[in-house]
Amino acid sequence: MPMSLKLSRRILLPVLLLGLCCAPALAADAPVMPDKTASDLAKIQAAMAINAKDAAEAATTYPATPQNAPAAAPAETPAAPAPGTSAGEAAPAVAAPAELAPAAPDSAKEEAAFIANAEDTPVAAITYRPAVAAHRGASGYVPEHTLPAKTMAYAFGPDFIEQDVIMSKDNVLMIMHDPVLDTTTDVAKKFPDRARKDGSFYAVDFTYPELRSLTVTERFSPKTGKPVFAGRFPGDSGIGFQIPTLEEELKLIQGLNKSTGGNVGVYVEVKEPAFYAREGKDITGAVIAMLDKYGYNSPEAKSILQIFDYDAVRDARMKGWKGDLAMLVLRGGQHLTDDKAVHEWLLTPEGIAEVSRYATIYAPWFSHLAVPTEDGKGYKVSNLADLARQHGMKVHSWTHRRDAPFKGFKDSRQSLDTAFKEIKLDGLFSDFPGDVVQYLKEQGLRK
Ligand code: CA
Repeated sequence: MPMSLKLSRRILLPVLLLGLCCAPALAADAPVMPDKTASDLAKIQAAMAINAKDAAEAATTYPATPQNAPAAAPAETPAAPAPGTSAGEAAPAVAAPAELAPAAPDSAKEEAAFIANAEDTPVAAITYRPAVAAHRGASGYVPEHTLPAKTMAYAFGPDFIEQDVIMSKDNVLMIMHDPVLDTTTDVAKKFPDRARKDGSFYAVDFTYPELRSLTVTERFSPKTGKPVFAGRFPGDSGIGFQIPTLEEELKLIQGLNKSTGGNVGVYVEVKEPAFYAREGKDITGAVIAMLDKYGYNSPEAKSILQIFDYDAVRDARMKGWKGDLAMLVLRGGQHLTDDKAVHEWLLTPEGIAEVSRYATIYAPWFSHLAVPTEDGKGYKVSNLADLARQHGMKVHSWTHRRDAPFKGFKDSRQSLDTAFKEIKLDGLFSDFPGDVVQYLKEQGLRK
């Protein structure tokens, strides 16, 4: 392991700063976000340098948010990646080889030859090794965010397995995609009178024992009862899948890393931080504390924190997160509290420059990178990936699904060609991580 780690550091140190010849002018109607002042930036950098234990205090001393910060001159130069989180430092965490079961004799020879060759190979020739993230586990095969789905994902050899983190009424961090329980559990049967006025059952209204008593199933429409993905795991299996805790899942992945000799990382999304703040809960701080406890809070650790909320991305640094940090971007926002104007801004050159002060990874929806044509029969690659790289960020995207190709693509295979040959994605989420791993092997981008 030390040798391969050393190797991966050596070959991955060069940062992919792609020169950009023609950054387009900012659209006239793009939302303009207030920039931070130099003194704010100094505070941010100071806060980022401190120990995580002091982060809460730092957070209270940081005054500005995009909404209340005073207007200032736009950033004149691209901000450098945050101290300790430069793309070069972060590279091993993103792209270190995933080593699974002990190598068979042939693959051991191949690896030795690979290492021997690599020692004499110009570094630039072998820097492209896209990362595969198992989206909610192997969710194409097993109900999402269950430990069996994560275990199956692990066996496909991804670089990362994803965790979406919510919080229970009694402050337990649990793994679930939606803030509501309606579409993936039997909550309506077990707790029929616990919905809010909007008719939804919010996980934050339930204690850990209550959440644990629910059965998780394949995703379905609460209105019709029909599955969202018809070809996936049966919804009526009767198997008592449960909602795991974040801590259990970290133990599972670390346990599998030990038993297989592998090194699969975690890709942890803090769900709805603004919603939880309204509920009186600091979910971002709690997630960082848990990841810190398990050794994930460093640029060298194989861990990525991902958030849809720009304020929370910034706050994550204030709260002491030192590792890779992905800004998820979706025009129109995705969840309860996403600010649509902020997401629109995050798709502009100014927004991208600004977020690169905190994030090491820019992670827009794939259809923002390969934009479908109006007739829906084709696509056009946007300049977003180039802009993000210009500011020192890697580019990840989501979500590849064999049974639901992106608009503009005839099938999911074609979208992989675009993702890795045209856009040169640094990472891709997939419900079918094995498909992406296999594709990258066929393309010579993975052992
Ligand atoms: Ca997610």
